[in-house]
Amino acid sequence: MVGAGIGGLAAARALALRGAEVTVLEQAEAIREVGAGLQISPNGFAVLRALGLADALRAAGVQGQAVSLRDYRKGEVARLDLTRLDSRDYYFLHRADLIEVLAEGARAAGVRIRFLQKVDRIEPGARPAVHLSNGAVLEADLVIGADGLHSKARQALNGTVAPFFTRQVAWRAVVPNVEGRGPEARVDMGPLRHVVSYPLREGRLLNVVAVQERAAWTKESWSQRDDPMALCAAFQDFGPQVRDLLAQIDEVYLWGLFRHPVADNWHAGGVALLGDAAHPTLPFMAQGACMALEDAWALADCLAGDGALETRLTRYQARRAQRAKRVVEAASGNAWKYHLSFPPLRWAAHSVLRAGGRFAPERMMRQFDWIYGYDVTADP
Ligand SMILES: Cc1cc2nc3c(=O)[nH]c(=O)nc-3n(C[C@H](O)[C@H](O)[C@H](O)COP(=O)(O)OP(=O)(O)OC[C@H]3O[C@@H](n4cnc5c(N)ncnc54)[C@H](O)[C@@H]3O)c2cc1C
Repeated sequence: MVGAGIGGLAAARALALRGAEVTVLEQAEAIREVGAGLQISPNGFAVLRALGLADALRAAGVQGQAVSLRDYRKGEVARLDLTRLDSRDYYFLHRADLIEVLAEGARAAGVRIRFLQKVDRIEPGARPAVHLSNGAVLEADLVIGADGLHSKARQALNGTVAPFFTRQVAWRAVVPNVEGRGPEARVDMGPLRHVVSYPLREGRLLNVVAVQERAAWTKESWSQRDDPMALCAAFQDFGPQVRDLLAQIDEVYLWGLFRHPVADNWHAGGVALLGDAAHPTLPFMAQGACMALEDAWALADCLAGDGALETRLTRYQARRAQRAKRVVEAASGNAWKYHLSFPPLRWAAHSVLRAGGRFAPERMMRQFDWIYGYDVTADP
């Protein structure tokens, strides 16, 4: 397994629980406090439950109750009641906490996690090989590329396809929850910008992601810092609640949002892809981690089936590719809805949301059923 991220660790535990011998190679020197908040919706939680990690996850997360959709100056427009979902298992989590739960779960199942193992190249073949940057070459029966956005495994199977810049950048930060926000996510929507915020770690922290449309290109990286003043300046016409929230930030990261096509080939020559390596997803449906978890389960399940290795991997791709494409497309199509800049259009859109929230709250939630209501662990 290449990559001790969310998909890699989940797949490692799933495979080890089925009797496989699994080694995870991770470039980082340790499981570190990198990243900020993630949302785990019921479809992702179903995998964690099936992996026996539900209690650990519940202890680490904040159970989400609602999503408040807000106009950037006037406040709440509509409210999505997460308690109306068939499963109440919707959690806000720090990425580091989820990684910790998964890493412990993987180790407990017998998985070896090796740090400081940067993979340079993967060579598919009868006996696939992994070339490390320290010169070592490792062989295995199967190499799983769970190496995220800039995947070497994807490159080996699909070549290099340049992603395109969406003309959107996102800042992310974590601040103390001084306003005492309850277990709800807020989306403050303004022209060409929006801010998403929700509580983490027993409500002690708030995760903040602020998105802006702009022409200037920014690197696609989780570790690039920016000046907090630049963020405040970009949202200075938002209402006082948002401005106060952003004013608290003293450390902020900026990343460019790029669209990548879903990989054509998810496997070949004993190498398989999962998670962001196969289908990087924009953050607008908060599904990147959940899709990686679903892939992890489906891959382990297919590998436990009959037939030659490549037949089992073909079954895996068939089971996952269409759903992954649909989610990636839904996420890509969502940003403009938050960013309407023409005031009459924004007014009309917010009126529809307001009416939907007031008169048809059930219907508003049902539109997400195809994502949240899906349980990959119950899908043969
Ligand atoms: C550092 C980091 C911070 C993130 N922060 C957030 C966040 O704040 N909010 C959010 O919504 N999403 C965040 N994400 C993305 C989110 O976690 C993923 O979209 C999602 O979980 C998909 O999971 P994945 O397992 O496919 O990939 P990831 O969870 O991205 O894991 C990939 C893993 O592979 C490792 N890796 C990559 N290349 C190599 C290599 N050549 N050799 C060895 N190891 C390699 C990486 O270090 C990483 O541990 C972050 C991802 C990363 C890597």
